[in-house]
Amino acid sequence: MIQKAKVCLIGATAVGKSSLVRRFVRSIFSDDYRTTIGVHIETCKVERPRGALELVLWDLSGEDEFQTVQPSYLRGAAGCLLVVDGTRRETCDVVLMLVERVKSAVGPVPFVVVLNKVDLVASWEVTDGELSRMTEKGWAIVEASAKTGRGVVEAFARLSDAILGTRPWT
Ligand code: GDP
Ligand code: MG
Repeated sequence: MIQKAKVCLIGATAVGKSSLVRRFVRSIFSDDYRTTIGVHIETCKVERPRGALELVLWDLSGEDEFQTVQPSYLRGAAGCLLVVDGTRRETCDVVLMLVERVKSAVGPVPFVVVLNKVDLVASWEVTDGELSRMTEKGWAIVEASAKTGRGVVEAFARLSDAILGTRPWT
């Protein structure tokens, strides 16, 4: 039986969490910016050299996403994608803050940082200094664009590999 791994999408509002999930699971991008209330859950099978996983992707929606990153959302997570919007510097601080909540709820699960919106280089704000605050913590950073698709498969693959490496999957 294929192992399931719960993955939480973590990050500030409008960094592209839902767009990354849509791009990865359904290979589409939509410019519509809609927020609904609650949690969206999508599942997706990934095959990696170490084995196969069914990713169960948890994506919060709604206006007050910080408030809703609660233990009940995080419980049972095998790993998290930490999403930063490269055009908004403050989204790095949000990730660093939210990760502390993840650690206290589920412990030190694997994290991969998605530096999203690389298609918008002209309005880039995030600096190497900010990124090194994340690499210092041992997190992989994958540059991605939910719009063009660049880096999206890689981000989910890196996290899957990390999850497969931390669990005694049988
Ligand atoms: P969420 O709140 O983190 O789930 O963010 P959304 O996925 O709803 O995206 C917020 C906005 O950013 C939407 O208008 C998206 O179309 C846009 N967006 C998301 N990813 C990208 C990207 O890679 N490039 C560009 N240019 N826009 C993006
Ligand atoms: Mg969303």
